Amino acid sequence: MASAPAAGEFELIARYLSHLGAEREDVLLGVGDDAAVVRAPPGHDLALAHDTLVDGVHFPRGMPADQVGYRCLAVNLSDLAAMGARPAWALLSLTLPSGDAEWVRCFASGLDRLAREAGLAVVGGDTTSGPLTVGLSVVGWLPAGLALTRSGARVGDELWVSGWPGEAAAGLAFIQSGEGAQSAPVAGLVERFRWPQPRLGLGAALLGRASACIDLSDGLAADVGKLCHASGVAADLDSRSLPVSAALRAGAADERTLRGWLLAGGDDYELAFTLPTGTDPTPLRAAAGCDVHRIGRIVEGAGVRLDGEPLDPASLRGYDHFSTDPGRGT
Ligand SMILES: [Mg+2]
Repeated sequence: MASAPAAGEFELIARYLSHLGAEREDVLLGVGDDAAVVRAPPGHDLALAHDTLVDGVHFPRGMPADQVGYRCLAVNLSDLAAMGARPAWALLSLTLPSGDAEWVRCFASGLDRLAREAGLAVVGGDTTSGPLTVGLSVVGWLPAGLALTRSGARVGDELWVSGWPGEAAAGLAFIQSGEGAQSAPVAGLVERFRWPQPRLGLGAALLGRASACIDLSDGLAADVGKLCHASGVAADLDSRSLPVSAALRAGAADERTLRGWLLAGGDDYELAFTLPTGTDPTPLRAAAGCDVHRIGRIVEGAGVRLDGEPLDPASLRGYDHFSTDPGRGT
């Protein structure tokens, strides 16, 4: 983080952090008082999620500030998408090594851009000094009693995934290798890592249709494993149905690398979900704005299998990005 002229905490808040995101009528009192006051819609439940992103652990050191701002919101919105919730409000905690006004301005612009797209308002938060760390709590709402959970999958259900898992992990591998975006397919992979797309529209469209749902932050196999554990079932993935994008195939040096990215790469922020057999996916594709793929079936037992063979997510990691951080992901 370049050393620009330092600004005071309250100056930074007033200039860059007081009006982040969408204007919402249900925000009765925003930044500036001891707490924010919002009004929840009647007949709705609230979904709350929180993620902390540490420099060098959850994003590469030196990542452009606007991408850090965008990312800290995107990974949280992805959790709301996994519940089928519509984003509403957020609280931001920002720990900064210095009062670098230019960094904060860029950070705020990235967060603000996605917050406006998602219709969310940042209604409060905190700034402190220390190693660069961003904490964000988000709140969304959904019709009462309809929240998607990890625990509703039933034997016989179909297992589906949105988008193209593995692309973001591949993009990160190219960023870390210093090779950068030397070809179009690789450039696309790098973009996928830099700008994750939370599947909010798909999440909302799954309400009342899906039996279970989870977002993919730690990797397809590991997160499907969490859904199975919560539901008390097993999943059998069909290797021929796993979606492999042309860019991913172009970027992978070998089959093992491709398999590692696809099944255990992480940072996808796609949704994995289960549907009762025979559910028509057409409205989901329209709502998702991306493709959705049937990749397997829910069966009796525990854990994740590939073509009937037990799959150990840990054994799939071809490489480990950043440092090994046990606390990663929710
Ligand atoms: Mg999650």
